[in-house]
Amino acid sequence: MSRPIVAIVGRPNVGKSTLFNRILGWRKAIVDPQSGLTRDRLYGVADWSGREFTIVDTAGLSLWGPSGEVAEESESREAIEAQTKVAIEEADVIVLLLDVREGLTAIDRDIAHLLRRSDRSVLVAANKADSPDNRHFAHEVLELGFDEPSLVSAQHGLGVGDFLDRVIAQLPESGEPEADSKADRLAIMGRPNVGKSSLLNALLGDERALVSPTPGTTRDPVDTEVVFDGVPVVLIDTAGIRRKSTARDRLEHYSLLRGIHAMERADAVLLVIDASAGALAQDQHVAGYALEAGKGLVIVVNKIDLVEPAKRKAAHWRTELARSFKFAPFAPIVTVSAKTKEGIPAVIPAALEVVGQRRIKMPPNELNKVLRQAFTDHPPPSFKGRRLKLGYATQAASEAPTVVMFVNDVGLLHFSYRRYLEKAIRERFGLEGNPLKLVLREGTDKRAASRSKS
Ligand code: GDP
Repeated sequence: MSRPIVAIVGRPNVGKSTLFNRILGWRKAIVDPQSGLTRDRLYGVADWSGREFTIVDTAGLSLWGPSGEVAEESESREAIEAQTKVAIEEADVIVLLLDVREGLTAIDRDIAHLLRRSDRSVLVAANKADSPDNRHFAHEVLELGFDEPSLVSAQHGLGVGDFLDRVIAQLPESGEPEADSKADRLAIMGRPNVGKSSLLNALLGDERALVSPTPGTTRDPVDTEVVFDGVPVVLIDTAGIRRKSTARDRLEHYSLLRGIHAMERADAVLLVIDASAGALAQDQHVAGYALEAGKGLVIVVNKIDLVEPAKRKAAHWRTELARSFKFAPFAPIVTVSAKTKEGIPAVIPAALEVVGQRRIKMPPNELNKVLRQAFTDHPPPSFKGRRLKLGYATQAASEAPTVVMFVNDVGLLHFSYRRYLEKAIRERFGLEGNPLKLVLREGTDKRAASRSKS
């Protein structure tokens, strides 16, 4: 099921990333901030009043030049225009952020002009509104042609909750789950030039992959359906991999945002990394986002023909990538060369294994046994004289493996203890390549547990 995308646009310094962080901050990140994932995230899964959506800071996206370098002109008018266009292309709701203190500027009007011509839902928020006499600004903003702006202070959190209520009201109904195809769905993602199209072509060229005789059974025409060793698989074209030969367009370095929609429809993400470049911050971001979105993850290290033989083995990359992907030690790594075809036959089987692992059922009695044993082996540390106590745990019906634990006090779970419990569950049930969500609720009610969705 696809999460709607909410993008924040606006000129530099209006507070886009502060608002972005404020919105994400209300949700406990599944990825621990100390886990090696850099802070400056550009998108993440947020939720408000029980609705999940992906929130994107478009300004950050232009900091990602094609090879991961910081693009110097990221705050130029041209860059802002490009960010706005990508938001129009990809987002369901666009938040135009203004700065009360600066008033309306020419750039604000330019952005508004682009947005008015689109058919997207646009909500205007005026930031840095720390004082009540900012109301006059709200009036001034009406000339942009949108509904009255919300006055917010991203830094202090003022007005943001009310604003999110408005955002939620604009979100489209969640899409239907992808029930129209039984095939496992894999999205190929990665930075420009890591070899995504070459990988797709190499996979399609494998003699075990037969392009489906009945194409068009999925909703999206850019999907490629294949039957691999008898198993139907859909390769989802992210970022217009197949389109780009005709138009390698100017917006290409925003391709990761453009891939988000595609990724939402996948069961697992094949994250392609260039062996000659190693892992860059963007690669970490994509992996972190895939896990937050509940997707399976396979790391595909491509172009191994360019590195010395000792660096062509997955074991080498397991060590090499351990730091950058500290938050995803469970993701399998395959090494390939789309050029020489070395390693290619192992890619789809690895991905199908990950998809299989996410469908594992954890029988309640075994799950509870594993957790009780973990509590006995290493009792949770006490916090202000109190200790976490487990009542009952159950697997929730959810896209990604999710365990709901009923406990005495949700505030007593320390991050390292959470890690420890996750590890115990993984040791028993596998779940290779998949995020495991541990949701805590207060209480001991078994019936409530089995009704709980996530
Ligand atoms: P994409 O932007 O991620 O889709 O990347 P492409 O598939 O277009 O590849 C970018 C460049 O890398 C092209 O020049 C490819 O020929 C080259 N390339 C892709 N895979 C490999 C590989 O395994 N080895 C080498 N040496 N070059 C590769």
